[in-house]
Amino acid sequence: MYNAKSLKAEEFISDEEIRETLAYADANKDNLELIDAIIAKAKERKGLTHREASVLLACENEEKIKECYELAEQIKKDFYGNRIVMFAPLYLSNYCVNGCVYCPYHMKNKHIARKKLTQEEIVKEVTALQDMGHKRLAIEAGEDPVNNPIEYILESIQTIYSIKHKNGAIRRVNVNIAATTVENYRKLKDAGIGTYILFQETYHKESYEKLHPTGPKHDYAYHTEAMDRAMEGGIDDVGLGVLFGLEMYRYEFAGLLMHAEHLEAVHGVGPHTISVPRVKKADDIDPSAFDNGISDDTFAKICALIRISVPYTGMIISTRESQAVREKVLPLGVSQISGASKTSVGGYADPEAEKESETTSEQFDVSDQRTLDEVVNWLMKMGYIPSFCTACYREGRTGDRFMTLCKNMQILNCCHPNALMTLKEYLEDYASEETRKIGMELIEKELEKIPNPKVKQTTYEHIHDIAEGKRDFRF
Ligand code: SAM
Repeated sequence: MYNAKSLKAEEFISDEEIRETLAYADANKDNLELIDAIIAKAKERKGLTHREASVLLACENEEKIKECYELAEQIKKDFYGNRIVMFAPLYLSNYCVNGCVYCPYHMKNKHIARKKLTQEEIVKEVTALQDMGHKRLAIEAGEDPVNNPIEYILESIQTIYSIKHKNGAIRRVNVNIAATTVENYRKLKDAGIGTYILFQETYHKESYEKLHPTGPKHDYAYHTEAMDRAMEGGIDDVGLGVLFGLEMYRYEFAGLLMHAEHLEAVHGVGPHTISVPRVKKADDIDPSAFDNGISDDTFAKICALIRISVPYTGMIISTRESQAVREKVLPLGVSQISGASKTSVGGYADPEAEKESETTSEQFDVSDQRTLDEVVNWLMKMGYIPSFCTACYREGRTGDRFMTLCKNMQILNCCHPNALMTLKEYLEDYASEETRKIGMELIEKELEKIPNPKVKQTTYEHIHDIAEGKRDFRF
């Protein structure tokens, strides 16, 4: 029944195919000849199938795992360089009619403070985010057709894009809202969104139905087929994700790659990003109630294998992960991280209100609680370039066009200068003295890496213009 090209969830994420894949992986986890052949294929940088990648995930041979990690690091360096794109989530509303058992927004939770931002409150939140230096947001909302209809989301996007405070601007709004209709996806596309993100939570249908006992999200097929509707609605940058901890990680890993293969097979373009959240403690939620939690080592292995299996797909790590875990997985292929995140509704403009209140509106506990300046400083000290770039979709480089850029090895002539120019803006407008000093030295050094002399010259000029007060240059 498995058919990557089918538009039916149960056929492109076939349970039978996943079970056979896991059995195949178990049978071959010590088959060094096969493992070597799979690693050799991954070295060609064309990716791996879910079956091949699952064999590597099952493999426990330390030497081979080390080889996979080294390859992941190399692919990350070659395709993404040392840039790390920065973003922040913005929680619009935690009203929700679903019953997701791992999420504190579930309808039966009566002690969470329900909040929905007004447009005036959105202005305050976004102003606070701009004052930190953020240029890219991911908006988040519970599913509630009465309180959070699509019109509310669209109006909020318009508000966010319209706010120009000092030198600040939000130049890319990604959207993480519940599965919806083709018509609504078209409206989101027309509103100028970047990526549409929807986590599958779990690919295991039976568990999915138990974990989402009530509400529209209960419908496994409607949820799983959402990305196809999004693509039909014209959104060609979509972000996949699994909430690790809910089900067996090996099952999820195979499902995730099958989903990516399905998008490629049907729409000719794979996912723009993959997120790897793990279940966290939250109001009314105890992560130990879910017995499929994964260790940090397994988490790192999953990140490395995603990197070598889908080399052209960005990978996102949120502040659910601590500084230490982030340090461990950054070199293995992560391309985007959030910084200074608040998961409460209204938490940026008024963080004190949340602390003082007896009830919380937070979605989950944040592990990495540092300020954006601290995160930027930390990244640069490790040799990364924090990038506030939003150029791709604004230049029409969506869908497979980013991959073309990668394949033509034009990253150093495009993403790299964009990262340096947006970092320069950050340093001028928002950085602390120390961060600014480290950043200026980094930019000087990194400018030399631009291969095309004309691009290098233009970047030099723009960096100078930014110091003079001009903003928003991009290739
Ligand atoms: N309501 C929307 C939906 O159903 O997809 C999307 C937004 S929700 C705010 C974002 C994601 O947070 C969910 O898809 C889920 O994976 C994650 N999440 C929920 N509860 C969590 C928890 N306790 N710990 C970590 N992540 C959680």
